Amino acid sequence: MTDYSFPPPDQASIGIAGSTQRFPVHRIYCVGRNFAEHAREMGAEPPKGQPVFFMKPADAVIQNPLIPYPVATDDLHHEVELVVALGPAVPEHWTPGNAMQAVYGYAVGLDLTRRDLQAAAKEKRLPWDTSKGFDASAPVSDIIPAAQAVIDADTALSLHVNGTLRQKAHLGEMIFSVTDILLSLSGLYLLQPGDLIFMGTPSGVAALNHGDRFHAELQGVAELHGTII
Ligand code: MN
Repeated sequence: MTDYSFPPPDQASIGIAGSTQRFPVHRIYCVGRNFAEHAREMGAEPPKGQPVFFMKPADAVIQNPLIPYPVATDDLHHEVELVVALGPAVPEHWTPGNAMQAVYGYAVGLDLTRRDLQAAAKEKRLPWDTSKGFDASAPVSDIIPAAQAVIDADTALSLHVNGTLRQKAHLGEMIFSVTDILLSLSGLYLLQPGDLIFMGTPSGVAALNHGDRFHAELQGVAELHGTII
């Protein structure tokens, strides 16, 4: 046993549908601007060459449906996203032919964003970290193992807030596919089992306020309900 000077924090983890086991979270990678209309609503051109990446800390995941309104913002935004979970079959050498073997399963999540801090950072050409990687910034559903999660270009990703549709798109509208993103990320980082990848959000991002109820859905695969408190 390692002799730590104080007890290490608990391993961040999320549930697995149909299992009593937990999925241990290693890192959370996020894709920016993966839907053309969302890139435009944020005042950017859709990317052509390389995708945009940023990260959240592993312990930003939250599965309690009561989501605390974060400190230090007056403009919390929702971004509904497909979440890809990587399992033990991560290849040593990534190719277009073997990339998908790394996918353990899928979930639906929110990339919560302190939009006012992000806008200020963008204006000054500073990093986005404080706007994206804060506590409880990654509400996420249980993971549905890939064998039971049938997704394709026609699968809808949607978010309702207080019963009103805010965001909806089909996965085929993503600029970069899951394979594209895995190949790009694997050229930047050593991807490992337990990594989560938030695949980017459709247009329609907007504010979440105290008391708002949200319902995110990856059609036929996963749902996520919660309330901002
Ligand atoms: Mn996002």
